[in-house]
Amino acid sequence: MPRFRRILDTMAAYKPGKAVAAPDGRSYKLSSNESPYDPLPSVVEAIAEGARQVNRYPDPASVKLTEAIAERFDVPAEHVALGAGSVTVAQQLFETVGEPGAEVVYAWRSFEAYPLLADLAGVTSVTVPLAGEDHDLNAMAEAITDRTRMVFVCNPNNPTGTAIRRAELEAFLARVPEDVLVVLDEAYREYVRDEDVPDGLTLYRDRPNVAVLRTFSKAYGLAGLRVGYLIAPEPVATAVRKTIIPFAVNHLAQVAAVASLRAEDELLDRVERVVKERTRVREALIAQGWTVPPTEANFVWLRLGAHTPAFAAACAEQGVAVRPFGEEGVRVSIGSPEANDAFLAVTGELVGKMNG
Ligand SMILES: *Cc1c(COP(=O)(O)O)cnc(C)c1O
Repeated sequence: MPRFRRILDTMAAYKPGKAVAAPDGRSYKLSSNESPYDPLPSVVEAIAEGARQVNRYPDPASVKLTEAIAERFDVPAEHVALGAGSVTVAQQLFETVGEPGAEVVYAWRSFEAYPLLADLAGVTSVTVPLAGEDHDLNAMAEAITDRTRMVFVCNPNNPTGTAIRRAELEAFLARVPEDVLVVLDEAYREYVRDEDVPDGLTLYRDRPNVAVLRTFSKAYGLAGLRVGYLIAPEPVATAVRKTIIPFAVNHLAQVAAVASLRAEDELLDRVERVVKERTRVREALIAQGWTVPPTEANFVWLRLGAHTPAFAAACAEQGVAVRPFGEEGVRVSIGSPEANDAFLAVTGELVGKMNG
């Protein structure tokens, strides 16, 4: 038998969101923070047109998409690095700065991919417990040592939905040594409505060690095509571009992302509808008696402790797939109004049994 890397024995495998169905066949997937909307016709058309070229390799430099992103966010094209989903860009970041034996600091609980990517890169995870449901940036700054190469700040945080405000984030950035890369993971940026939550793009410009991670998977509805990007100072973006597996961003992903930027107004209208639903769902949950932290993302978080597995199972019985995390809590994506109503019907039944 081949000798495998020892880390594979101890790594948890990534658990994808599960689809479930009620006895009557109804099924709502609120477990992966996807867009509940079908792709726009103009995007489907671009993909169909792109399908005619798939006998050719994709543009390895994704020139058109890189330029479209640079133009959209008013940044130089040299500041943009693409990957097959922002998870892959995060993996490239580990390739870029993560020498084996180095440390990466991030909050916990936060995005599940961080520990996996750190383990794979041979980088030691230094996790800093959330304070309540929020990042504890003071403790995170204190956790930085001379072995630290990178810090992930997930804003808004997955799975709690909470967001860090500008003054707090700026004070933190001022405390991070310049040779430590701070990655602002803004997968849910388009859903942020609190004006005190800073757009990472306003923070990276005058800081050599700050990078912003974004994705087309969530608000732009392209989760199935795999494309995400980094915007960072030129030396950082250039280093990350060197780590891409050749042709990783496929042709359909490139054309669909360009088409999505063109159709951004329509997509952001949909985001606005999800944000309204988010308010409705959170208020309904609170009215039922649940504790729900404020959320700036397209999901809500219920810290249910030992009730977590039973809650998820009860949702599944009614065809509602949610994302349980051990015995910690449940993350529930905001879906279509119908899906959200199905979820709220379940929570209305469970309240009193589980919200303690
Ligand atoms: C969903 C998500 C991503 C995006 O992943 P993709 O690989 O772009 O689909 C990145 N970061 C966080 C925190 C997420 O929740």
